[in-house]
Amino acid sequence: MVSWFVRPDALTALEGEGVKGALGRYAAVCRDERAARFLVVKSVPIKVSLDGRDKDLWAEHDARLGELRAAVAELDAAGKEPRDLPGTPGPSMMDLKLELANRMLRSCRFCERRCGADRTKGKRGFCNLDRGTYLSTEFIHMGEEGCFVPSHTFFFIGCTFYCVFCQNWTVSRQVEKGAPVTGRELAALAKRRRLLEKSRNINLVGGEPTPNLHTILDMLAHLDTNVPVLWNSNMYMSSEAMRLLDGCVDVYLADFKYGNDACGWRLSKVRGYWEVTRRNHLLAKDQAEVLIRHLVMPNHLECCTRPILQWIAEHFGNTVRLNIMAQYRPEFEALDSPDIGRRVSAGEVQRAFEIARELGLTNLDL
Ligand code: SF4
Repeated sequence: MVSWFVRPDALTALEGEGVKGALGRYAAVCRDERAARFLVVKSVPIKVSLDGRDKDLWAEHDARLGELRAAVAELDAAGKEPRDLPGTPGPSMMDLKLELANRMLRSCRFCERRCGADRTKGKRGFCNLDRGTYLSTEFIHMGEEGCFVPSHTFFFIGCTFYCVFCQNWTVSRQVEKGAPVTGRELAALAKRRRLLEKSRNINLVGGEPTPNLHTILDMLAHLDTNVPVLWNSNMYMSSEAMRLLDGCVDVYLADFKYGNDACGWRLSKVRGYWEVTRRNHLLAKDQAEVLIRHLVMPNHLECCTRPILQWIAEHFGNTVRLNIMAQYRPEFEALDSPDIGRRVSAGEVQRAFEIARELGLTNLDL
């Protein structure tokens, strides 16, 4: 059964979003005027046995995606509420996604590092995670963009990047070990925060949520409360992970860091950054609503900020909400990199905003 309630006090910060705005559907889910996408996934039946071969399960998954999108469009057009969703007597598309994610753990390719580690046997890839999911903390975050707070934020241990300037390095580098959690436990936390503390969303971050895709899908399989899902990520997911996320995410909160591969390699030890993240931003746009964050870094206006903003202007325009962030400060190992070993200057931040406006990007989160 889906919980249903109206929280008038939570509507204030969303005024002006409008149902047709860049985050319009998200706003409607916050207000419980629309169903969170993952609830629709759970209403789509599948026609294949979960014991089947990988290729048959993927074929069924991809075949049902069209049906899923049609269901969301139909529900939205009819203005249907979460409680109007049909149930499924047998396995749903969420069960299928969860099964596929658990199988992928045997040769992990959740992100484009594609380590191939058998995490079910305790092997670890670059993110240094076994099959478990470990939570650093979860709380109501009031420091996110205004339309997202109060945001129920889950900080997962571990990351697929090695950012030398990481501000959450104790989490990403696993200085903190965190507490093991299951999907069922995460679902109970999410439900409680939504119902009792009026959280506006589930905000999945870390570290990075990607290595925990299987647990997050398990959480959504157990969750029966209408709440929008934010995927707060470095956007280095594999194409398979993007397929599993399709339908489950309401807003991609995409951290767009670098405008080229060289900076990605030098500062985050990641290969193919520019191609992979551009692909995933386009997939995200196709699947859900998107807010792109770009952190302005000292001395990276021309190599990173400008090409990123140019690309956003060409491929998103003002259909995306853009947050140009000015809070960079050198942390972790950043002092060893002369270019980013200082705070970003007011002039650099101002120039970043000027570039955005010159490119016609006006849907800025200020
Ligand atoms: S999530 Fe990425 S980094 Fe971690 S084991 Fe899987 S492929 Fe490797």
